[in-house]
Amino acid sequence: MAQLKDEIIILKSINFSESDKILSVFGRNTGKFSILAKGIRKLTSKNRGNLQTASIAKVSFYRGSGMGVLTESELLCMPDFTLIKLKNIERVLRLTNKVIQEDQTDTKTYEALKSVIMNGFSQDAVNRYRIFLLSSNGFLPDWRMCSKCSRNNTEFKPEYFNKESFEVYCQECYNNYIKANKSTNNSKTIIVSIENNKSLITKILDNYIKEYI
Ligand SMILES: [Zn+2]
Repeated sequence: MAQLKDEIIILKSINFSESDKILSVFGRNTGKFSILAKGIRKLTSKNRGNLQTASIAKVSFYRGSGMGVLTESELLCMPDFTLIKLKNIERVLRLTNKVIQEDQTDTKTYEALKSVIMNGFSQDAVNRYRIFLLSSNGFLPDWRMCSKCSRNNTEFKPEYFNKESFEVYCQECYNNYIKANKSTNNSKTIIVSIENNKSLITKILDNYIKEYI
């Protein structure tokens, strides 16, 4: 078995036997895998405080064909659980654990997840991360370009959102939509601003994930 080092994010942690834990982790270079943390529940364990759910750590571990075995760890960032909505941590970690497959490597997603954690799990960061994760894995339309005119990511920032098809649009296409629907009732508007509807977007994503993921 080779000894490896990587920076990881702890997605999930399960107690195992009297003093061990099995952690589901997402490594920057090693992808998603399970790792056995022996003796980590003992008060004397030097790894004890380093590997809580949603923490970022540098670890050394052995990995053969089965589960990895932790040897050393160094904490890089632990979220302040007193300030963060626990629901947001759950929204992000559970979805990541479901969408990213065992042994799947994805550095882009790793960096995106890391920035949500460093950002303190703000609602906007949580929603944008979930949209990124879902669309880059084919569960939602591609959010890197306008669905109407195909304006792409170099000049495009998704600002308007279709509540029914989950497509996104640029300012210009939104303006055209408003012009074309001037006379219709506002409460029936299907395309809304992402920035001004954070709780609506949260709700739509929660429902979508609950039903389809
Ligand atoms: Zn457009």
